[in-house]
Amino acid sequence: MAQKKISRYEDSDLYKIRHSAAHIMAQAVTELFPPGEAKVAIGPPIEDGFYYDFDLPRQLKPEDFPAIEKRMRAIIGGKFEFKKRVVSADEAKREFKGQPYKLELIEGLEKGGFDEYGNPLKEKPEISFYTHDSFTDLCRGPHVANTGQINPDAFKLMNIAGAYWRGDEKNKQLQRIYGTAWETAQQLEEYLWRQEEAKKRDHRKLGKELGLFYFSDDIGPGIPLFTPKGEMLRHIAENYIRETQTRYGFQHVWTANLVKEDLYKKSGHYDNYADVMFPPMVGDGVTYRLKPMNCPSHMTLFKEMGLHSYRELPLRFSEFATLYRYEKSGELTGLARVRTVTQDDCHTFCTEEQIGSECALTFKLFNEVFARYRFSSYVVRLSLRGEGGKYVKDPEKWDRAEAALRKALDENNVEYYEAEGEAAFYGPKADIIARDVLGREWQLSTFQVDFIQPARLGLTYIGEDNQEHTPVVLHRAVMGSTERFLAVIIEHFAGAFPVWLAPVQAVLIPIADRHTAYAQKVAEQLKAAGLRVEVNAGSDRMSAKIRDAQNQKVPYMLVMGDKEMESGAVALRLRSGEDLGAISVDAFLSRAKEDIEKGD
Ligand SMILES: [Zn+2]
Ligand SMILES: [Zn+2]
Repeated sequence: MAQKKISRYEDSDLYKIRHSAAHIMAQAVTELFPPGEAKVAIGPPIEDGFYYDFDLPRQLKPEDFPAIEKRMRAIIGGKFEFKKRVVSADEAKREFKGQPYKLELIEGLEKGGFDEYGNPLKEKPEISFYTHDSFTDLCRGPHVANTGQINPDAFKLMNIAGAYWRGDEKNKQLQRIYGTAWETAQQLEEYLWRQEEAKKRDHRKLGKELGLFYFSDDIGPGIPLFTPKGEMLRHIAENYIRETQTRYGFQHVWTANLVKEDLYKKSGHYDNYADVMFPPMVGDGVTYRLKPMNCPSHMTLFKEMGLHSYRELPLRFSEFATLYRYEKSGELTGLARVRTVTQDDCHTFCTEEQIGSECALTFKLFNEVFARYRFSSYVVRLSLRGEGGKYVKDPEKWDRAEAALRKALDENNVEYYEAEGEAAFYGPKADIIARDVLGREWQLSTFQVDFIQPARLGLTYIGEDNQEHTPVVLHRAVMGSTERFLAVIIEHFAGAFPVWLAPVQAVLIPIADRHTAYAQKVAEQLKAAGLRVEVNAGSDRMSAKIRDAQNQKVPYMLVMGDKEMESGAVALRLRSGEDLGAISVDAFLSRAKEDIEKGD
């Protein structure tokens, strides 16, 4: 079957537009200063836009943006052609005399090994210029044909940030100007709306407002504390995965948080993963580590269970296990990056022939879960080994694993793009990157083929031929990690979870004290039917209680006064503000059950 590939951003028109906009901005910024005074560094396109780093005689402010944007529009209006020229290193140095950052980049290109952004390269690159109007940049392109192909109404300068030259804090701090550019004004408008919306949905902000989780200096950075409501959300999300994977034939196991360090020496984690592991602990002369990954524990369990026959395979071990990873403190971001990360991990032990059908089963599971969470779509990145030392050296096993994963994806009509240098140290991965309601991409699930760890740990099964064989291990996660997944869905739903997922599904609101006993009685009835409810018996006015429940994004509010009490009813309001009037308790229950089933 023909291999399906998704086109890369680097090949798109938007990439060219943004790359070109970066040059145009650099021209406009340098023209603010007398010739030669503004020093330019690098200016690549990035997701949704571009930036350029400058070393300038004065600090720029957002108030400078209108003038820079105006000049950019004039340059666009000039329809200047982007002309490419391949030059010698000497010529390049002459052109950029007085531009120390460019000279350093040219030297890197001359020596080979680095591109103009300082990224390592396999081959010595050619040195090329792109010139438009009066501005020349050291660049490999690609660009639009002329500046007129940038839509003057579809770009905007966003903000200024400090950025160290080459990302190294020992170097000088430069001024980085971020911009965004699109094909149409409407796309720009939608992007700006998404940016605003993303700020409102920030899970760190919502987590506080909804009372879901906290971080404390007394506990330590990157180690969250979950409130009863937050833990309820965790529990529902994890339980849903647990039940779904049980239905798909995955079995759950339990392995402890503490493991002898020697096991990680055998598995390869000690050599390839040590910087992420917490320091060792010694007791009775034995060195232990906090578990950074489940694979060696699950593989050891497989071994301890005795001799396996091919008839038992595939054997799928799943576990929600909290792992301990020493993430850099600067990279900790709310729940999205923590040091105690709970993976919904699975290791499937199977034969090489079973990889394809296991891939099919796993993608069916992914599809079901993503639909439940209303992710509109996802892309798959086939992460392959790359240059560098982080990959276990066993080219024969790597070739087989990469071929097997590619074949499994192709057989199952999974579209993907390839990325070198993104594999795990023990094998290639298919990483699932889901799109949320704002179109943002989040790497969640993964499906990995491993020929290396099972061999290193001495796993075997007896095949049909009565001989010992090494099983393949497929590593798989659906949510990725509970914490990060919660961060994603808090933002995806803006805290207004569907009824099935909401930690509190209904708040009962008695209007006066004399209605409280009735509210308690109805609450018991709803709890007995399996709903998660709270009674707000406080002294606030009804309107304040309704507002509070709306702010907490509780799906249903059940208001109760004399009329409702007499007729055994509740007045139903939704968090949208919709007032549906009085209905019987039974009618409310069937509505709630329907909403839960529909996934609303
Ligand atoms: Zn360029
Ligand atoms: Zn694993």
